[in-house]
Amino acid sequence: MARSLMLVESPTKARTIKRYLGKRFDVEATMGHIKDLPKTTIGVDLENGFKLNYRVKPDKRDLVKRLKKLANSADEVYLASDPDREGEAIAWHVAEELSKTGKKVRRITFHEITKNAIEEAVNNPRGLDSALYNAQMARRAIDRIVGYTMSPLLWKRVKRGLSAGRVQSVALSMICAREEEIEAFIPREFWTVEALLETQNHEEIIAKVVKPKDIATEIEAEDVARQIESTPKIVISGIVKRKKKRNPSPPFITSTLQQEASRRLMFSAKKTMVIAQQLYEGIQLGSMGPEGLITYMRTDSPVISTNAMTAVREFIQSSIGKEYLPDKPNVYKAKKTAQEAHEAIRPTDVHRTPDTLKDYLDNDQLRLYELIWKRFVASQMKSAVFEQTTVDIDASGVKLRATGSVLLFDGYMKVYNSRDTKDKLLPKGLSKGQLLKLVETRPEQHFTQPPARYTEATLIKELEEKGIGRPSTYAPTISTIQERGYVKKDKGVFLPTELGRDVSRLLVKNYPNIINVGFTARMEDTLDEIEEGKKTYVESMEAFYSRYIKEHSKAEKEMENLKTEPRPSGIKCDLCGREMLIKIGRNGYFLGCSGYPECRNTKDFTRDEKGNIVVIEPPKPDGDSLICDKCGAPMVVKHGKYGPFLACSNYPECKNTRPIKTQDTTDKLCDKCGSPMVVKHGKYGPFLACSNYPECKNIMPYTIGLSCPVPGCN
Ligand SMILES: [Zn+2]
Ligand SMILES: [Zn+2]
Ligand SMILES: [Zn+2]
Ligand SMILES: [Zn+2]
Repeated sequence: MARSLMLVESPTKARTIKRYLGKRFDVEATMGHIKDLPKTTIGVDLENGFKLNYRVKPDKRDLVKRLKKLANSADEVYLASDPDREGEAIAWHVAEELSKTGKKVRRITFHEITKNAIEEAVNNPRGLDSALYNAQMARRAIDRIVGYTMSPLLWKRVKRGLSAGRVQSVALSMICAREEEIEAFIPREFWTVEALLETQNHEEIIAKVVKPKDIATEIEAEDVARQIESTPKIVISGIVKRKKKRNPSPPFITSTLQQEASRRLMFSAKKTMVIAQQLYEGIQLGSMGPEGLITYMRTDSPVISTNAMTAVREFIQSSIGKEYLPDKPNVYKAKKTAQEAHEAIRPTDVHRTPDTLKDYLDNDQLRLYELIWKRFVASQMKSAVFEQTTVDIDASGVKLRATGSVLLFDGYMKVYNSRDTKDKLLPKGLSKGQLLKLVETRPEQHFTQPPARYTEATLIKELEEKGIGRPSTYAPTISTIQERGYVKKDKGVFLPTELGRDVSRLLVKNYPNIINVGFTARMEDTLDEIEEGKKTYVESMEAFYSRYIKEHSKAEKEMENLKTEPRPSGIKCDLCGREMLIKIGRNGYFLGCSGYPECRNTKDFTRDEKGNIVVIEPPKPDGDSLICDKCGAPMVVKHGKYGPFLACSNYPECKNTRPIKTQDTTDKLCDKCGSPMVVKHGKYGPFLACSNYPECKNIMPYTIGLSCPVPGCN
């Protein structure tokens, strides 16, 4: 019997498809890309139409040989790599190699690995899509040019081994800019005044002063409170009841999946994509064999196929309740219409509820599947309905307001609850003109807050809103800036490191028209236009390169050299009085005396919340005591931007600081004998032990939020 050959990128995907197609097909994996640019040269012909020197990767030569042989004896060859730019490039490269043996190929794509989808794809093959491939080449060429020219400049001017990148460096600059805003932020004081009121039946109402609107100081707040207290008549001046709808969110696309998985499951974007890929490529469901459980996970379209729509509407009607089914399907539109009709991320079979997969998925897979399943089902359910009540209250000119909210119909929230929906109740039967009695006034001081640091979720949201990056790039971008040591994740938020801030500052200053949000977003649009056939590869590359090379040549001349011209720190050397300089050594940043080599004084440093440099004194060899070695006062734990350290309690008279070490005392007291607990480093990390050892052998878990003082241990 004649057999056909199908090529996909991964063995898991191959295994799942093989099961659907049976004996007619051999399904083989290319293990990702078979061609790439050479490692040692730039691989882009800058003089000659930006031709890319794609060649078979050395470790893929045997594989390619084998695929050629298989293809030759096959009836038909189908290239079934993923339905996007990278997938098209893989197909293109395989086709190039197979054409050397005279073999014709067919390209097929699908958004889910299910029997129906695969069979339909096989029945509707298309040719290779050169526009899609051109977009991949342009993306690769631009990233290559930037990487191969900008990075070496950083090696010369900052530190060896650094990297720069089109999207990566813009993301870094956003994190750095946010940090500068926070450091420059000056909190402003403001006050609110609430009144606790009650009805004749002693039912309580908490109302907030809404006029006067801005209460800046304590004096003003007390003044407002006194006005309310001295009012003879506090009266309800109006009641408004309104029904408010809350609509379900669209089904997931890549960026929203990453954000929600980060918020709800604490998954990194990278982890989310790894698990989503497993669910997409196929999971062994007992004796049934592998099944693709979700649609393709790299997409920016929330569109739902007709079949999936019919299935989910039937499911809602029969399994959740017909009162939850809207008359017409909820339609969600993509931001732009891409050429390839992409789909939302959804379960391939809505009848496979998370419960039915418990035995086949591991915990993380199950949690991500459940999130995708619920979000999809909810997206086709009715809106939730609340009744909101606003009660306006007058106290001789001071206006107060109390609000209540009651859930009338849970709608989609029955399946996917996104927010706190606890009812906020007001007493029943309130009416206009009703008098209220004052119980007490509550003036309260507040301060305006600086903008929040980025989390993975908020960074992805912002990247998407600004049009930077695409479904395939959010996760790698976020991983790269962490792996390069440019940012650190601390309690879920991103902090730029000293190195990250230096790199970002130099790039933004020297490549103002490249490392820039607007340009990066337009570049993504250009890639989309190439994909749609509206722009050619060569014209787009020429436009990019002429702009880039002008800026790069200038940067080569003008970028400051942090290796030869270290910046002053504003700290005086405590040995010779000269300025300490910020230097970059093999083990990171430190302060070195500008009197080097006569004075070899060095210091470690951190920064405080305002970004000011704080010197960390090295521990004295005998220095296990917690007494300040400069002035004798006790040392206390302070939280700097890069973790906890010890500072003299005699601050600001004494500015002594040093790192935390094992044996350091904490302010936690032993619950057995009352002695202070000390930090110890055990096999499984830090723990607290009683300082009264060996009399008291009490130990406690390490819950005080300090990082372990032993280097390399968390
Ligand atoms: Zn010195
Ligand atoms: Zn001191
Ligand atoms: Zn004790
Ligand atoms: Zn440790």
